[in-house]
Amino acid sequence: MTASVARLSGRHAVGPAATQARTTARSYGDRPISRGMDRSFPMTRAAGLDRLGRFTDRMGQAYAGGRNTDRGPETDASTSALSPYLRRRLITEREVVAAALAAHGPIAAERFIQEVFWRTYFKGHLETRPALWADYQGLVAAGRHRLATESGLRKTYDRAVEGRTGIDGFDDWAREIVETNWLHNHTRMWFASIWIFTLRLPWALGADFFLRHLIDGDPASNTLSWRWVGGLHTRGKHYLARRENIRRYTDDRFDPVGLDEDAEALQEPEPVAAVKPPPSDAPPRGEVALLLHLDDLHPESLPLGDATVVRIGGCLAHSDGAVDRVRSADHEALADALARAASHFGCPAGLVEQGWAGTLPVVAAWAPVGPSAAILPPCARIQRDWDRAIWPRTTKGFFQVKAAIPQILAAEGL
Ligand SMILES: Cc1cc2nc3c(=O)[nH]c(=O)nc-3n(C[C@H](O)[C@H](O)[C@H](O)COP(=O)(O)OP(=O)(O)OC[C@H]3O[C@@H](n4cnc5c(N)ncnc54)[C@H](O)[C@@H]3O)c2cc1C
Repeated sequence: MTASVARLSGRHAVGPAATQARTTARSYGDRPISRGMDRSFPMTRAAGLDRLGRFTDRMGQAYAGGRNTDRGPETDASTSALSPYLRRRLITEREVVAAALAAHGPIAAERFIQEVFWRTYFKGHLETRPALWADYQGLVAAGRHRLATESGLRKTYDRAVEGRTGIDGFDDWAREIVETNWLHNHTRMWFASIWIFTLRLPWALGADFFLRHLIDGDPASNTLSWRWVGGLHTRGKHYLARRENIRRYTDDRFDPVGLDEDAEALQEPEPVAAVKPPPSDAPPRGEVALLLHLDDLHPESLPLGDATVVRIGGCLAHSDGAVDRVRSADHEALADALARAASHFGCPAGLVEQGWAGTLPVVAAWAPVGPSAAILPPCARIQRDWDRAIWPRTTKGFFQVKAAIPQILAAEGL
């Protein structure tokens, strides 16, 4: 399966009228972005390892010093763009951190490693507060109802997702995400902040827009990052996008006027209490059927104990409303994992069908809160040591995890 060819318009004028002129005069969408960062994202482990290999040299000081700058889709990204692969665990967090450590050592690679830990922190945080996911889904449903009944809100929403607000930068990013299915981290922060505090749109509708379009769309990282920007994750501490900051970190490509730089943080009634991270099941002994899903597509490194895999099935649960490109990426990633698993375990593999496992006990990698977990049938669900070491530390802020990174890496033998 091949991903659709991504195209993007250029920009350099400023303001609403200029934005309008730019999109019409250039017949927006006629310029391929292939001169810059490759956003075709072939969804195979080999492609993930290739990207990892090409970025490893830049995981040290270059990353720490340059990661905040977004020079746009027509240049190489300042960050690794490994997120579509990590999201599906075509490559694992452990592998990526090991590469960074081997190339740069713990001090120079510290910043990059911390960012990878943010991913596991968010996964654990949602795992220990699953109600946040249910709340988010409820807010999306409520938001969609409001869009159907409130014409003013609908207009603002349509302008935002179609890149017609007149806000310099924001409109380009709205089109960028729709056309390339990926955005730089800093740009995600600016976009979410302008969505919430300048456009005054419901945060959950913005998170839903991201989750449907991002090729790395992840229930934990996405929901909790939007909450973080809004000031709901760390209560009262919100992220305000500032004109000066956007100019500086886009190399003056954008100069948005009229941002609300004084808005108050969002509020919600009661904080959701954390529960203990759920325990891992033990892998059964003897012959088993292995079930693959989109949250963990590296079965070769799953700790399966004394189980012998004799059959392999794959199940697909896309994010609600995921666009075609994201769905094809999911299909392609699963197909790659099934082929690798068949060869690694030496047994048949295919999409699950009625009765696929026969009477065999079924075992699967742990599926964290999200679409895969929602459809997983009863089975032994195995957590990786990586998650088991980090999730118990994710009940509070990131600082708890950050402080324990050296200890966690030592326990992982890194
Ligand atoms: C509003 C908003 C929504 C987001 N939605 C998603 C999402 O749906 N899926 C997703 O994977 N990330 C999400 N992020 C986090 C972050 O933006 C992306 O992980 C990052 O931009 C991916 O680019 P990269 O691979 O080049 O990251 P790098 O900077 O190269 O980092 C390496 C890896 O570390 C992890 N990582 C880096 N930064 C973060 C972070 N802030 N939070 C969590 N993990 C991080 C990713 O797995 C990433 O691939 C979101 C951030 C914001 C502000």
